[in-house]
Amino acid sequence: MQGATGFKVIKNGKLFDGTGSVPLQNAALLIENDRISYVGPEAGLPPVLEGTTLIDAKGGTILPGLVEAHFHPTYFNVAALEDLDIKYPVEYVTLLAAANARLALECGYTSARSGGSLFNIDVWLKKAIESDVTPGPRMTASGREICGVGGLMDWNPDFRKIGMEGLVLLVNGADEARAAVRKLVKDGVEWVKTYPTGDAAAPDTNDHHTLCMTFEEMRAVVATAHNHGLKVTGHCRATEGIKNALRAGYDAIEHGTFMDDEAIELLLQRDVPVVPALYFEYASVVRGPEFGLSQRVIDGHQETLDGGAESARRILAAGGRMGMGGDYGFAWNPHGDYARELTFFVRHVGLDPLVVLKCATKTGAEIMGRGKDFGTLEKGKLADILVVAGDVVGDISILEDKSRFVAVIQGGLIKGGLLAKPQMARLTLSSQAQ
Ligand SMILES: [Zn+2]
Repeated sequence: MQGATGFKVIKNGKLFDGTGSVPLQNAALLIENDRISYVGPEAGLPPVLEGTTLIDAKGGTILPGLVEAHFHPTYFNVAALEDLDIKYPVEYVTLLAAANARLALECGYTSARSGGSLFNIDVWLKKAIESDVTPGPRMTASGREICGVGGLMDWNPDFRKIGMEGLVLLVNGADEARAAVRKLVKDGVEWVKTYPTGDAAAPDTNDHHTLCMTFEEMRAVVATAHNHGLKVTGHCRATEGIKNALRAGYDAIEHGTFMDDEAIELLLQRDVPVVPALYFEYASVVRGPEFGLSQRVIDGHQETLDGGAESARRILAAGGRMGMGGDYGFAWNPHGDYARELTFFVRHVGLDPLVVLKCATKTGAEIMGRGKDFGTLEKGKLADILVVAGDVVGDISILEDKSRFVAVIQGGLIKGGLLAKPQMARLTLSSQAQ
């Protein structure tokens, strides 16, 4: 990804730097090429050189670019899970994925960890973004998801003669699990996404269904993936499934819905991060009837929502880490709504907005394995920055409205927000000069 050249100064903002420090009023940032070279009180800003671009935060908020920690660019706002595998050919899904990546960046998400991909699109989408072929978040890519035969993602009985080539690799036993990971190694993925447990949304399983993969299969996935330097995560709702994944050596847990004391303890032993993706459940309950979800499925989502919220509170209270990612890509939970996850955790789960922002920035970057590069606003880090009109800490829902974004900055380049529009940028700069 081409970084910026030259200097930019952002000033007159309230700084949330993502490190856990309290927000700083009258803060300023100096960007030198693609990195941050000063961050702190405006009074301490080094002398501004001629030719420096000035960005006036106008009393708004300066924060790290957001990290979507459970991103499915290839999920194209489907109204039924089954549509994912059969509605469109790979060529069209690839174009939709590129459009979703562009949208995520416009929404202030400068980085994203893929939580599972149709075909091997995310690996190549990542390459296209890094090569500046198409705009999008910095990505870590996963590929086709691994699920046991007859598990959550294997819903087509044989008589339908419909394969599942694009969405999942179906495995029977440890040998096939190893073979699936080896295929993903060749594909170039960084994260292996698996399905250890069921889900309220699926026709043949529920949110307490544990054995979509056996422990032996999960162990085989982890051993093979780690051998090749890949990380492993899994869709884990049921309590025993979460514990199986943690005992098998998983590097992250998606959802972590029904955690008991032992699950929390296992989680903390290796400091394994969890991405709850809970707004999806809320949207499924509230908007599900509009899209024909059955009462049984909606009740399941409600139970998942309650259990997931309780687990999220317990994970953080116990000192665990949590990323913010929302499983966006369904009709009731479409791409573009990413920041609703953050609002949901403040308003419905009752978390402090500063905690939620840290989950959505610093922890997200750590989950991606890129904590040294971005996720906080510190000297030497990549200049992935969001400048927003208004007090995000006071009202986190401001992040849902991209018309409030002054600038979305990635690697020092202005990629979104009002300043991405050249005429607006000139106006701001001339008003600065006066
Ligand atoms: Zn997902």
